[in-house]
Amino acid sequence: MQIRWVYTVFLVMLIGMGSLGLSLPTAQAAVQPTGKERPYYRLEATYSNESQSVCGHMKVRLPDQRQQAWNEVYFHLYPNAFKDWKWGAESKPEKPGYLKVNKVKVDGVPVSTQEKGTLLKVKLKRPLKTGETAEVEMDYELKIPKGGTRLNVYGNTAFLAQWYPMLAVHDSKGWHTDPYTTTGDPFFSQVSDFEVKFQVPKGYQIISSARDAEKPTSTVFLRQARVRDFAVVITKDYEPIKGKIGNTSVNLWYLKGMEDVAQPLHDAAVSSMSFFTKKFGAYPYREVDVVLGETGYGIAGMEYPGLVTSVARIPTRNGEQAAVNVVAHELAHQWWYGVVGNNQVKEPWLDEGLTTFSELLFMHDQMGQNEREWLMRAAQRTDEIYKQKGVTSVESLYKYSDPIYGLMVYTRPAAMMWELVDRLGKEQVLKILHTYYDQYQFQTATTEDFIQVANRVSGQNLRPFFERWLYFKG
Ligand SMILES: [Zn+2]
Repeated sequence: MQIRWVYTVFLVMLIGMGSLGLSLPTAQAAVQPTGKERPYYRLEATYSNESQSVCGHMKVRLPDQRQQAWNEVYFHLYPNAFKDWKWGAESKPEKPGYLKVNKVKVDGVPVSTQEKGTLLKVKLKRPLKTGETAEVEMDYELKIPKGGTRLNVYGNTAFLAQWYPMLAVHDSKGWHTDPYTTTGDPFFSQVSDFEVKFQVPKGYQIISSARDAEKPTSTVFLRQARVRDFAVVITKDYEPIKGKIGNTSVNLWYLKGMEDVAQPLHDAAVSSMSFFTKKFGAYPYREVDVVLGETGYGIAGMEYPGLVTSVARIPTRNGEQAAVNVVAHELAHQWWYGVVGNNQVKEPWLDEGLTTFSELLFMHDQMGQNEREWLMRAAQRTDEIYKQKGVTSVESLYKYSDPIYGLMVYTRPAAMMWELVDRLGKEQVLKILHTYYDQYQFQTATTEDFIQVANRVSGQNLRPFFERWLYFKG
């Protein structure tokens, strides 16, 4: 995510500091249900623009590998956060939303369930051992909140984020059932395969995590292998600018009133995708969509596999400008979060820090902006915050208040990566990132994994360096 208030923080800091500058094998081939190590979702969905809801049926084949037998299975029902809003009044939806499930079955047999907040527990009739799989199915009804964060309706456009029951992650630590919160991106899911059949009203078009149809049709079939999430935008209002890098389509979608920034932002999307591909490794999908517009309170942009959102313009010291750095930031998340996953609840720095560094590297190398001095000064503030509050850059989302979150999780790790460039040279740092990308693609990496890759590639013991920057040790 790119947070709007980051810019507010930046601006306030800039005013406070005087003269510092602000500018501050293809996966999409047919889904292969033989990859039993990952979940396989089959969703049927019907969108109603009148009731601003989606009704449907979902089947999920559970992955067959596990370290201990499962007696139950958890799903996140994130839209239920918008039912009884527990957070700030400023981000409260104007009209609530929810995700209701019904008729839950496992291998065709009805089972009992428990629901608490944004979590659904499905009881299994017998323990599911490793090597075994089962199919969980359910009916669902999604009511889209008006003015929701990420999940939202705006004009004739519905933004569907975390819109279906999402299988929770189970690993050596057990089930990850962390609740929704408004700080950061409180979502964690594993790479899965998707087949989605969507019915939309006449004249509506779908933009999704999959490769989308050229022309609007009322029934849309979408397939996408190896993605952590499946985002959908249903719209009557958006127009595309299309382009290509090799075999990958790069589309930018804009609304009336954004014509002046649409082309520069499409150019930025193409050049940043090509820059990150060269620096970090191949983008594995056939299409990426950039959708311009508001997607909720405080959010400048948001990443999903194969689809990102970004505001059209951001404030800079030269006035409002095309949000080039937001587009670059969200697209860098295709590498850090999308392909190389991490637990965004427990270690949000790992994708946000590397993504902010990637964004700044692109802005520096391709757009001629140098934010280095500003970044280092901003990072210095984190030392004071650590002394006062005791929070480091490696904490779960719940430990951070909003203004501190941006500095600790985005800014300080990005400054750390620039200092690593000073220490090892840019080529070595890029080699570390490229190796990390190759080694952990379609998996979930940790801070420890990243440090180990850096040590191995550099042939140095960088642990004290990372511990000083990330954990404030020494
Ligand atoms: Zn981000």
